[in-house]
Amino acid sequence: MAEMNPFKIAQQQLDESAKKLGLDQATHEFLRWPQREYRFTLPVKMDNGRTRVFHAYRVQYNGARGPTKGGLRWHPDETIDTVRALAAWMTWKCAVVNIPLGGGKGGVTCNPKEMTETEKERLARAYIRAVARELGVHRDVPAPDVYTNPQIMAWMMDEYETILGESHPGVITGKPIAIGGSQGRGDATARGGVYVVREASQKIGLDPTKATYAVQGFGNAGQYAATLHNEILGGGRLVAVSDSSGGVVNKDGIDPEEIVRFKLETGKVSGFPGTKAITNEELLELDVDILYPAALEGVITDANAGNIKAKLICELANGPTTPGADEILHGKGTLILPDFLANAGGVTVSYFEQVQNTYNYYWSLEHVHEQLDRRMTDAFNAVFDTREKAKAHMRLAAYMVSVTRVAEACKLRGWV
Ligand code: NAD
Repeated sequence: MAEMNPFKIAQQQLDESAKKLGLDQATHEFLRWPQREYRFTLPVKMDNGRTRVFHAYRVQYNGARGPTKGGLRWHPDETIDTVRALAAWMTWKCAVVNIPLGGGKGGVTCNPKEMTETEKERLARAYIRAVARELGVHRDVPAPDVYTNPQIMAWMMDEYETILGESHPGVITGKPIAIGGSQGRGDATARGGVYVVREASQKIGLDPTKATYAVQGFGNAGQYAATLHNEILGGGRLVAVSDSSGGVVNKDGIDPEEIVRFKLETGKVSGFPGTKAITNEELLELDVDILYPAALEGVITDANAGNIKAKLICELANGPTTPGADEILHGKGTLILPDFLANAGGVTVSYFEQVQNTYNYYWSLEHVHEQLDRRMTDAFNAVFDTREKAKAHMRLAAYMVSVTRVAEACKLRGWV
């Protein structure tokens, strides 16, 4: 799967749901492609006085339901096809949580780990100068993604406002709170995932307060999943966690707050007192009730899906399960909460940020949590009902919900 072109995978997933839905040929063909895509060549002065040339992209995949929305990745492996695929998935993600936005994505092929802060600032501003006329709260709204962060969003918003000579905080989300960011954005992805775990547990008769769980990947999404599982569900036993340096296990339980503190202090989870070492592969096959993959794509495959014992898998990572593994797990009765449903909490709170910026009035943390809970719960129920009615696995059901909504908007506009 890692070898496959990600955009081809995105198109295949759409094809499967179009077939199941009996979608007409024109709508199907229209949804297979981005509506608009831009490529930019950006000359940027580096600190040593030399100019480096960067290749950059912005894809506005589908705007039928509203302005396009999606993050900016700065990564050495970025290509137009990774950006197209991610923009397609953003379209389905915004539709499944029923927010009035389309899907987009952007990227720059670069290695931020080798760049200074001043070089990053010049790249951020150069990107906005190139794309500014295509952005706007009513057009297209970027956000942070891999290797971009709130500081980069702040520089980008400032450059945009300088070009327009007006205040436009809603042009970009994931900003620091001091300049228009939303309360609750930091843990939104994991929080949304835990809300859907709560709903799914009820459906399959699992008591989450007694359930055991394991978390693969211990960054933003994984750390918050570990602590919020207990906080939101009122219990549960964390038995294993891992990061890129390996994992740790203790069947009697690991204190989520303590291991987050340990990770922040030492930079890894290995060596956490009272635990045994375990590999990332072993973690996935542990006898636990709930698994949270929160690291990389393509970790659950045809090769290990048969050994997975979890009853519920909450995909906080993008693309952790290959299509072959999906079939095997569905056949075994494992319930998968697919990525673009399970990790939609982040874009949902980004949307709340855009709304608050637009009417220039800011919500309390409690209000953000309440609204996020409602959106995630409704999204889960729509997908679960479709799964029952269509006898489809959860990922296909999620596609069916999203594609139906986007197709309806395209038809109402008279596009197809
Ligand atoms: P992050 O960079 O904060 O953390 C990633 C974690 O994965 C780190 O702990 C790292 O050590 C670990 N990791 C890296 N390689 C690994 C390996 N081979 N085996 C096990 N662990 C490994 O990233 P994040 O923001 O937490 O994102 C994690 C996943 O969630 C990604 O797939 C991302 O696309 C997805 N996601 C995140 C958000 C968000 O708001 N943060 C939103 C949607 C989707």
